[in-house]
Amino acid sequence: MTGTTLDDYTDRYARRVRGMTASEIRALFAVASRPEVVSLAGGAPYIAALPLDAVGEMLGRLAADHGHTTLQYGIGQGTLELRERICEVMSLSGIDVGCGASPEDVVVTVGGQQALDLVARLFLDPGDVVFAEGPTYVGALGVLQAAQAQVVHVPMDAEGLIPEALEAAIADAARAGRRVKFLYTIPTYQNPTGVTLTEERRERVLDICERAGLLVVEDDPYGQLGFAGDAPAPLRARRRDGVFYLSTFSKTFAPGLRVGWILAPHAVRDKLVIASEAQILCPSAYAQAAVTTYLSTMPWREQLKVYREVYRERRDAMLDALGDLMPEGTTWTEPDGGLFVWATLPDGLDSKAMMPRAIAARVAYVPGTGFYANGSGAGNIRLNFSFPPPERIREGVRRLAGVMEQEIAMRRVFGPVAGQAAGRRRGQAAADVPGPDLA
Ligand code: PMP
Repeated sequence: MTGTTLDDYTDRYARRVRGMTASEIRALFAVASRPEVVSLAGGAPYIAALPLDAVGEMLGRLAADHGHTTLQYGIGQGTLELRERICEVMSLSGIDVGCGASPEDVVVTVGGQQALDLVARLFLDPGDVVFAEGPTYVGALGVLQAAQAQVVHVPMDAEGLIPEALEAAIADAARAGRRVKFLYTIPTYQNPTGVTLTEERRERVLDICERAGLLVVEDDPYGQLGFAGDAPAPLRARRRDGVFYLSTFSKTFAPGLRVGWILAPHAVRDKLVIASEAQILCPSAYAQAAVTTYLSTMPWREQLKVYREVYRERRDAMLDALGDLMPEGTTWTEPDGGLFVWATLPDGLDSKAMMPRAIAARVAYVPGTGFYANGSGAGNIRLNFSFPPPERIREGVRRLAGVMEQEIAMRRVFGPVAGQAAGRRRGQAAADVPGPDLA
């Protein structure tokens, strides 16, 4: 096969690979990582808030003193010690023995991303419908697209997923004779909107899914990163049947270790382990030992408070800057936790078309189109506040506001700018393959 070009592979690709093209904004993200650019685009936690010396020492000892196990293969489900610790972490959110959570039913994964992929592998045939919030996590769209599922977005408002819209989507699918396998939802401090599903709606959404025989895949990487007290209890704390609970240590400890998990209904736990073994044999023994030791010997509850405090301050910096600087007609969410604000641009502005001009002005964001499978979202942007310090956040918002003012002025003079409708073509956004900047 030496000397072949990329094109020579085209007719060999599996069908599921066809829609897998990198989005055009990917190239811009390479530029966005330059130091002169304020990136409000990523989803990276502020790792400098960790006690890195102590973590480093712990990692060194794990290899030097325990290398015969930590550098060895492990079992597919993940170590019992870590699964026990995971149950302790979940109990902070109200998922405990009382609602049937047990280490037996936890499967350790390579980050939350593998957890999503496993659930998709287990349940999705090509053409199956999956409901997801509109907008939703770009990495979930990548997984669902690879599984050749059809994503139907269910609209949200400031209180999260709209139950009536979910009912309508179920009725539409039934009328069309489509098989819906599950609802994928991020009910708490959602990525990308920062919105939290209210207490009352949690019960309604669960009731609706139960009645319709829909499984619920609850993705909860941010639930313990609340700024104003505890979030409403997860869906899994309310129902033990039919709810898959997915989470990760990526946001509460360190994404570089790539450790996440699924708490699965007991009946499917074995299938998940078999599917995971086929993918990865076993999760990294070293990374699992690192997380287990972190949770058993280091002040991880205190660290959660540190993260919350840093992010609360940065959220405030972002909301203040948006309030002071954004052009009239811009609106945004006010998250009580998590890492992101979702902004709606003044009428007529197109977030994807504006991106090159924003990069030229040395600020980056993620255009809203990345978070929809159907090309919606051109009027929105996702802004991250966890990584840049407060003064950089303000500077980034100032630059962004300048770009938006210019766009508005240009539109006044010339009308809609050429190429603006490009991002609205159906199906295009599903190709926004997740990368580190889109986490
Ligand atoms: N789910 C959601 C909602 C996320 O935001 C992310 C990461 N940004 C993930 C899953 C994946 O997490 P991990 O880095 O642990 O794979």
